Amino acid sequence: MTIRHHLDEATILAYAAGTLNEAFSVVVAAHVSVCPSCRAAVRQAEAVGGNLLEQTDAVAVSADTRARMMAQLDVVAPLNTLERSRSITSPITSRELPRPLARLLGGSSLDEIRWRALAPGIAVHDLPLSPQARGHLKLLRIGAGKAMPEHGHGGEEITLILKGAYRDKFGEFRAGDVADLDESIEHSPVVTEDGPCICLIATEAPTRMKGLFARMLQPWFGI
Ligand SMILES: [Zn+2]
Repeated sequence: MTIRHHLDEATILAYAAGTLNEAFSVVVAAHVSVCPSCRAAVRQAEAVGGNLLEQTDAVAVSADTRARMMAQLDVVAPLNTLERSRSITSPITSRELPRPLARLLGGSSLDEIRWRALAPGIAVHDLPLSPQARGHLKLLRIGAGKAMPEHGHGGEEITLILKGAYRDKFGEFRAGDVADLDESIEHSPVVTEDGPCICLIATEAPTRMKGLFARMLQPWFGI
């Protein structure tokens, strides 16, 4: 698997600092488990964070401190100098499912998941989180060749592609790639003709998720 789309630095820093919510942490951990580049960046961020904590008693990280951490990350872990993807989509097989996700699926493979239909060609499977978790975590399956209406995001959203591929204005996203999007981003993903696309998606809050789905489903249900 060759990965072309990675986590952004802010996500890596938050993950390394342990401040990401549970849903986001699962997606990040799943990507990191298949991506040596982001794994190295996380290790580096942990090391930098540890050093900074040793140097200062302050718990709050100032803008200046954050800028220094970013600068160090730029030096040691450039995320964008990656080799080109091979042309064949290589799905993450059940055996290779990232461990944090495999645990949540209770040993089921992607083929054994019970899907709930949302709209023609679109199905969802909710994943359990601990009762106090604030984000949402879902698997989404979108049919081959299916276009989703252009939509924005009510909050931050991280998507890991597990199988199949889609294209949007940022390029083609294949198994192992992540789309690490903030609320300012609008895009219109189109699944490639090779087959359905299965993604693991963490979103910030249920109300925002509703907003996103309302917009996605509008063309079908007129809501
Ligand atoms: Zn990565």
